[in-house]
Amino acid sequence: MAKRTVGTYITRPGRCPGDKETTFPVAKDLLKVPGTPRKEDEITFHSREYPLESFAIEESASAHWAGRERDRLSPQISDLYNKFATEISPVVDWIRSTGDLLPTAIASGSDVTDQIKLKARSLGYGEVGFTRLDRRYIYESKKRFLKRNLTSTICLAYEQDYVASQKIPGIEAEVAQGETYVDQARSSMELVDFIRSLGYRAQVSGPVWHFGPMIPQFVEAGLGQLGVNGQLLSPHFGSRARLQVIFTDAKLTYTKPVDFGITKFCETCQVCFIRCPGKAIQGQKIWFRGVHKSKLIYKRCRPVMARFAGCGVCIKVCPIQKYGMKPVMEHYVKTGTVLGKGTENLEAYELPGKGYFSAGKLPKFESGFFDMPTGKLEDNLLMEFKRKVNSEHSNIDDTVWLEFTNDLKKTINKKPNIIDMGMDMEE
Ligand code: SF4
Ligand code: SF4
Repeated sequence: MAKRTVGTYITRPGRCPGDKETTFPVAKDLLKVPGTPRKEDEITFHSREYPLESFAIEESASAHWAGRERDRLSPQISDLYNKFATEISPVVDWIRSTGDLLPTAIASGSDVTDQIKLKARSLGYGEVGFTRLDRRYIYESKKRFLKRNLTSTICLAYEQDYVASQKIPGIEAEVAQGETYVDQARSSMELVDFIRSLGYRAQVSGPVWHFGPMIPQFVEAGLGQLGVNGQLLSPHFGSRARLQVIFTDAKLTYTKPVDFGITKFCETCQVCFIRCPGKAIQGQKIWFRGVHKSKLIYKRCRPVMARFAGCGVCIKVCPIQKYGMKPVMEHYVKTGTVLGKGTENLEAYELPGKGYFSAGKLPKFESGFFDMPTGKLEDNLLMEFKRKVNSEHSNIDDTVWLEFTNDLKKTINKKPNIIDMGMDMEE
């Protein structure tokens, strides 16, 4: 492969506060559009006619199934998730209450972008950006909680530990993920106090309790681009960044979407697509809800996540995560190739209890591995009841009916669970 012509240079703040700015080239043949290729009218149409909803609600049946599979196959991971849920629950309660917190001072009326950025960076956030609050990306069930008059989104990425992340999938990486969420949530408490002391309101989304998908807002704020693995590829951490947003009425200057070259780079790279144990990642992009993206096949991902420590191979094998955007883009300009592609260093992984899979090798699963309930838990109960009613040998008596209504009541009235390692919550 040949050396490439440089199309542009990108300069970003250093990785940690006090670090020098970093500049890297993006090859001309990788330039496409800033942010993500999208059709605004289609995004608007879908958000109005088919509003987004949380997977924890829409796919509650598989979430419960995954919990049972974990208890059966990986009790150590189940214990870890339970401990995490206990530790983070009080913080989640605080996150849910932030919309009611009032400012503690009178706003001066001046632009506070730099003050918030400095404070956030001092609290450990590695990437900070600002964009308008896009209500098209608020889940239907969460719209009632979002305060009116909040106009802007502060996008905040927290880095997950590098060393532990290279051990994905496994308990060490899951511990690191939980710790990152806890640290991030605690930092946001201080940041919210700071924003309120400037005279403004601050309503928090995530970790665990989210108002909606965060990646579109991060891309709009210029903090990265959407990778084929469905994750935000941020300049320093790639897909190792844990995301959180704060909605506010503060006076801010918005950052702009950037073309880091990722949209086209992914077309050449394809490592996550090749290495995904569940073959859940699609190499070809499609237009989906107004965005040109690689659409993850959920039904092929969750059975792997549930049985192999939350999987995450798609995070681990991404060269932007492993090496950072600067070395990867410099290497591409020099050689026209993807840094690390085809090597053990980048592509090998171990699935706990299944084995080690070197570059080029994939696990095989027995038939039935991908069978799992889909949709809402209560809809599955109804389907099961209908099956019993339709069964030739069934004798539908009061017991069957009572059993169904009791199970349904239990499902509707149950306490909302935290899903997996803080991925989402059932409310
Ligand atoms: S989590 Fe695992 S199974 Fe799911 S998309 Fe990523 S690599 Fe594939
Ligand atoms: S592994 Fe390659 S194709 Fe997948 S998201 Fe990362 S850069 Fe894109």
